[in-house]
This record gives sequence, structure tokens and C-alpha cells, in this order.
Amino acid sequence: MSEIRLYVTTTEKTAETVMALMSDAFEEEGYAIATMEIDEKRDLWEASLYLMADEEEEMRARFAALLAPHFPDMPIEREVLPDVDWIARSLEGLKPVRAGRFVVHGSHDRGKVRAGEIAIEIDAGQAFGTGHHGTTAGCLEAIAGVMRSRPVRRVLDLGTGSGVLAIAARKLAPVSVLATDIDPVATRVARENVRLNGIVSGIALETAPGFHSTAFGRHGPFDLIIANILARPLMRMAPQLAAQLAPGGQVVLSGILAEQRWKVLAAYNGAGLRHVRTLWREGWVTIHLDRR
Ligand code: SAH
Repeated sequence: MSEIRLYVTTTEKTAETVMALMSDAFEEEGYAIATMEIDEKRDLWEASLYLMADEEEEMRARFAALLAPHFPDMPIEREVLPDVDWIARSLEGLKPVRAGRFVVHGSHDRGKVRAGEIAIEIDAGQAFGTGHHGTTAGCLEAIAGVMRSRPVRRVLDLGTGSGVLAIAARKLAPVSVLATDIDPVATRVARENVRLNGIVSGIALETAPGFHSTAFGRHGPFDLIIANILARPLMRMAPQLAAQLAPGGQVVLSGILAEQRWKVLAAYNGAGLRHVRTLWREGWVTIHLDRR
């Protein structure tokens, strides 16, 4: 619905008086009011009351009644403010992202998926992972590469956020995925995205900090562990992560700044993993390792 601005044009002094009247009459009800200078030389000011289109008739009458005793001849003008759906507009800015065989897109871009692409529909929301961050795109590319070259049955997506990587893995092959996140909002959003992407089985979601959950024992060991978190927690978790890996298992790590790469590699080498490949995107790296 459009927003309307009702306003009077007057001098600075009168605008202040009108503002004070409006403030007493409307501000407590939550209406926005404002004065603004239009022309300094001619001392032209506007005093405005903002409201929604369906309130206009009632509010115009109240505004007129408020002014009448003080400024009987003052005309009330109106302006319809541009009707902007900010959420829709911010999503429009998010173009589909292509990485590997995947295309991650918002619902507004459903029509842009090309033949042969694996589409993942994620709307920007409360959880990280629309594909627009270099780390998510790097993980998507790495997952596609890993799953093409080696048999993978069980996948762990640690720090699933929007669920984008879990959904990607499941769309690529009939794998079983455990997706976890420390943030319960993320697991809720991820569950919703799994459903929106038409996936009815194969992805289990758990809220858990790091490896503190019995879910890992129930679903592991894993042939592929994907963790797009940050360098420091990844380094700290290296031994626990390696312990969840099946023999010959693969690891994809991201959330690592290029300059942190060596430290992370050292931590994972120490946990018995070997560097396979590093992907670089926008200052971030995605590291593929495997078990020696
Ligand atoms: N996997 C998604 C989201 C990455 S953002 C993608 O690649 O786009 C990182 C996510 O990890 C966030 O949702 C954050 O809540 C989660 N996270 C951070 N630390 C964590 C931890 N110690 N254990 C589990 N999840 C964690």
C-alpha cells in the first residue's frame, strides 16, 4: 500500500507551530511528522504528516480540524510517496550465482535457470548462504568437483546457514546429509529451504555447536565433510573434524581469508589430512583436503 504525505507550506515559524500541534495530536499514535526547509531565501517550509493510503480521508479531516482554529485558510497538500517494496527490490539486486553445475537463485529468478544446471532456490533471509559470498560459491564448486571424482554416500555440512551446501550435495547425488548449525534460526531456515527445494528425505538438520551432539555418531563417519565457518574455529576443530571422517574421506573447508591459508593447512595436516586443491575467490580460499 502506498504511503501518503499530507503537508502545509508556510514560514519556518508557523511550520514549527504546526509541528508542535501535530506532535501533541498524532505522535503518540505512531505517526511520523517532520518539517523541512524548501527555500531559505523566501522562508518557505513544509510541515508534513506521513500516513498510509487507507487512512488518508480520516487523517486529512483530523489534520484540517487541528489547523482550523489557528490557521483557518491554510491549504493541506498531498503527495503520494513512491511505492517501494524494499524486500523485493533488495532481492532483485541478487542475481543468480553460478558455481560448478549449480545455480543459486532467489524465487524471483526461477525462470533464469538453464538446461543442465542444478538449481538451488534460496531467498535472502535470516541465515547466511545465498551463494553470493565467495566462500559459498567456492564450496559449491569444490563439492561438484569432489562428488564427480569419488564415491560419496554420507555428507556432513557443518555450519549449514541457509542449508545451501546440504541442498547442493543432495541434489547432485542420492547422498545422506547431516547439516548442523550453532544457530537455531539457521537450522529453522535451512529446514524451510530444504522443503522449498522439493527435498523430502536425505537431509537431517540439527542445532549443535561444533561437534557437541550425538547426531554425529548416529550419522557418521562421513565421506565428505564441508565446513564453511571461519579460519579460527576451523583450526580449533581440526582434530574432531578429522575424527568424523571415513577412511579415504574428503574435506572442503572455507571461510578462510587467503592469508590464513597456511595456518589452516598446518592444523589439518597435523590432524592427518592432505592438501588436494585450493580455490580462490574474492580474497577467500576454499581448501579441499583428503585423508591420507
Ligand atoms: N554453509 C553456508 C553458511 C556458511 S556461514 C554457506 O556456505 O553459505 C557459517 C555458518 O556456520 C553460520 O550459519 C554460523 O551460525 C555457523 N557456525 C559458526 N560457528 C559454528 C560452530 N562452532 N558450530 C556450528 N555452526 C557454526
